[in-house]
Amino acid sequence: MARYTEAVCRQCRREGVKLFLKGDKCYSGKCAFDVRSYAPGQHGQARKKVSEYGIQLREKQKAKRIYGILERQFHNTFTKAEKQKGITGENLLVMLERRMDNVVYRLGFASSRSQARQLVCHGHIAVNGKRLDIPSALVKAGDVISVMENSRGSEYFKGMAEALAGKTVPAWLVLDAQNLGGKVDRFPVREEIDVPIAEHLIVELYSK
Ligand code: SF4
Repeated sequence: MARYTEAVCRQCRREGVKLFLKGDKCYSGKCAFDVRSYAPGQHGQARKKVSEYGIQLREKQKAKRIYGILERQFHNTFTKAEKQKGITGENLLVMLERRMDNVVYRLGFASSRSQARQLVCHGHIAVNGKRLDIPSALVKAGDVISVMENSRGSEYFKGMAEALAGKTVPAWLVLDAQNLGGKVDRFPVREEIDVPIAEHLIVELYSK
């Protein structure tokens, strides 16, 4: 599986914003961005004039890093979003949110999207009762997500039901903490997607 090889926290420093890629560490005093919020490298603290293209490019990179997607898959998703009715940028974000790895993360079964991706890849997650090990698969309204029966006893999932009790999940998802499951009630709307992305800049970039 293709993935980013740049050190994870450097990605936040590169984008100049916390991307929350490392789970609990991001909320602790150990967050590298809280200590050094400037770009990595020798000239990281230098003031640079950024072109319009540069701003648009950075926005796309930020979105890719947040969802952990490489260029080709991201561009494919954009192409599909463009063909849908409605606002392309919003369609793009909704499709990114509908990814299996993102839904597993949003339901709280993992503390980061990369950890969620591992859970999906390793076959711990089922959709509508059937194992689904493709992190990029898109969920549909009405889909029921659950932890596979034979994974529930593992060290990782032990105690998770109690830990998730009372957890707040996005309004478009329903969490069934007790049964280590959840449901996609409907697709999200833009206001419910709490990622720091100005999606119109990505649309402008790809429209050039
Ligand atoms: Fe980014 Fe999290 Fe690393 Fe902080 S700890 S720099 S938010 S990945």
